[in-house]
Amino acid sequence: MTGDGCQDPRDIHPHWCGFCGARQMFTALQCAQLLIVPSCPRCSGTDWRNEIDDLTAPDYREDRQ
Ligand SMILES: [Zn+2]
Ligand SMILES: [Zn+2]
Repeated sequence: MTGDGCQDPRDIHPHWCGFCGARQMFTALQCAQLLIVPSCPRCSGTDWRNEIDDLTAPDYREDRQ
């Protein structure tokens, strides 16, 4: 699934690091060209999640049980 970018249509929108949870603002251009997406400043991870990922993530649903 990497390389698809995200479904967020907004020019600037937040993403969360999938490893440490740090939040960072991304532009639609960055999401469309994942090669220039920066790594997480806290843990150097590049597993950025968006709001849609957060709502559909299995661990999120487990939290709601
Ligand atoms: Zn995005
Ligand atoms: Zn991180």
